[in-house]
Amino acid sequence: MIVPLSKNIYVLKAPNRSRYPYCNCLFINDDIKAVIDNSCGKENLDFLMRENLNVIINSHFHEDHVLNNPSFPKAEIWAHRLDAPAIRALDVMQEYYGFKNPEEKKLGLSYLEAIGYQESMVDRELEDGDILNFGRVELRVILTAGHTPGHCCFYEEKEGLLFSADIDLSDFGPWYGHDCSDVDDFIASINKCIDINPAIVVTSHNDIFKENIIEAMKKYLNIIYKKEEILFNYLKIPSTLESLAEKQIYYGYYYKQDEPFHKISEKMAIEKLLKRLLKQQAIKKEGDIYWR
Ligand SMILES: [Zn+2]
Repeated sequence: MIVPLSKNIYVLKAPNRSRYPYCNCLFINDDIKAVIDNSCGKENLDFLMRENLNVIINSHFHEDHVLNNPSFPKAEIWAHRLDAPAIRALDVMQEYYGFKNPEEKKLGLSYLEAIGYQESMVDRELEDGDILNFGRVELRVILTAGHTPGHCCFYEEKEGLLFSADIDLSDFGPWYGHDCSDVDDFIASINKCIDINPAIVVTSHNDIFKENIIEAMKKYLNIIYKKEEILFNYLKIPSTLESLAEKQIYYGYYYKQDEPFHKISEKMAIEKLLKRLLKQQAIKKEGDIYWR
């Protein structure tokens, strides 16, 4: 479904309520035709392929955003400098995920193969603050690290429109389950979006927000603190990372613990929260044991 936001800017609403492996995309119909992300479902993809796109922007390296890069061989691909290496090379992508042992690597590769993922080149590396000019539309690149190191939001000042990518204001909350994720950076990035005070927010996996935006952003941010508090309470009893990961603090009981990707991400996310608590000197660690 194509939703116009202004004369030159359109949201391509993804199927299945934009849930993984789909994402909403932002189409710029201007002198330079561009789209931010491209895992938007077949119907939207067919539309984009008829549009002779000049530029594909990747908000970050995750497969559910960059999946269709190879479908546009004539378009340039732009992504932030810090995520570009993971788009260009599968082994770097695996490293960013944190898939280290052969079993995890094999699991990652077989999954990516099953969804038809391919490496792609990145023609232009973006930096925080870059102004991308498409003719009438100008987008400012806002580095919003945390989800991934080079995750970017894009701001269009005239409409007050923020494409917030995976700062998706979902009920699940911020996702920081990869080795390259960073909780402190994520918090800073959500605060950066709050400071912008946008009039419209287009998220990758959720709705288009036009009301109560700051409230939604604060609620989303607080989910980090709530999970951290639950973890902190568990640490009354000295525990290993492995035993804490079994509590399903991050994913909750909605997700199946035996699903291998969730299991890996749960552990990494808990490790990220522990790292933050250690940095604040709120908890202690000796050997494999954490406590407070
Ligand atoms: Zn992502």
